[in-house]
Amino acid sequence: MVSTTNGSLDGAALPPSTHRPLLGMTQAELTAWVQTQEQPAYRGKQLHQWIYGKGARSLADITVFPKTWRQTMEQTSIGRSEIHHRSVAPDQTVKFLLRLDDGHIIETVGMPTDKRLTVCVSSQIGCPMACDFCATGKGGFIRNLATHEIVDQVLTVQEAFKERVSNIVFMGMGEPLINAQNVVHAVKCLNQDVGIGQRSITISTVGIPGQIRRLAQHHLQVTLAVSLHASNQSLRTQLIPSAQQYPLEDLIDECREYIAITGRRVTFEYVLLAGLNDCEEHAAELSQLLRGFQSHVNLIPYNPIDEVDYQRPSRQRINQFTDRLKASGVAVSVRYSRGLEKDAACGQLRASKIDN
Ligand code: SAH
Repeated sequence: MVSTTNGSLDGAALPPSTHRPLLGMTQAELTAWVQTQEQPAYRGKQLHQWIYGKGARSLADITVFPKTWRQTMEQTSIGRSEIHHRSVAPDQTVKFLLRLDDGHIIETVGMPTDKRLTVCVSSQIGCPMACDFCATGKGGFIRNLATHEIVDQVLTVQEAFKERVSNIVFMGMGEPLINAQNVVHAVKCLNQDVGIGQRSITISTVGIPGQIRRLAQHHLQVTLAVSLHASNQSLRTQLIPSAQQYPLEDLIDECREYIAITGRRVTFEYVLLAGLNDCEEHAAELSQLLRGFQSHVNLIPYNPIDEVDYQRPSRQRINQFTDRLKASGVAVSVRYSRGLEKDAACGQLRASKIDN
């Protein structure tokens, strides 16, 4: 079992702050809050529009509010981060380094295409899972992100691109299901307050015992992506240390339950590592494992990181693996990662810290 700094799987380790930030609150909560400030109820709706619709960063920006009130509320935080740095890859993918209230830096990636703007959000600072091929885990784990720190990432990308975000993938730094409470809260806020369809949101997990079942019980319409990466337990344990406490059959059983409860199919992610998990026998074993399963396999050719010397398979080998799965009736696609040149691709994000 993986433990976090506060020892709880759902632990919501909030950064030090004198009050709960306004970002993440529903319109009803904002209305209740303005009333505690002796303001009329309709200001709650205005506040909601300014925070989520106009992307207000501080109460001082909200020009429809009386000046005297804005001045007295100067210390009240909406909960927005600062853009510390941004880098643009040749494919127009933008990696943002965002500075949080406590000085930690997280990474968020905006990926534009003709019809979409997808945001790859982080759910933690660092990651405790330590998957061998992933850069995030190499730097260790610092803390869970609070709800507002997750929602902020989406608003930041929306503001920078001057375009509505269409899709969200929880594939940035961290393991979302260790921070399930804040992630679920953020999903509801992104859906109801920011206006992004639940079906356009994907939560990616390496699998934490019991957590996929618990997520299913929230009856969200999000897509669940499970990082499988291996066709058998011993290979999986070699790549993902936490798999030792989570037999492959148990993981697959929980995925079946997720499908039964939510009616949504599951995506399985599979990082292709040359000579390690990309052979004919692995494709055959994977097809067998997923037989009759309402699923989709997403193959991710390995993106290089400094600390380890895994190799990305050749195109020919990737195609052979794909064809083998297709021939067995498995729905499969290959994700050629974006932002590779700027270390913004899957598995390349890292945490850092600057002094306040
Ligand atoms: N903790 C979540 C989110 C991780 S990032 C999870 O494990 O699912 C999203 C995906 O990128 C995961 O499938 C992850 O295993 C994959 N990934 C990590 N490192 C990678 C690398 N170096 N190359 C390609 N994909 C990688």
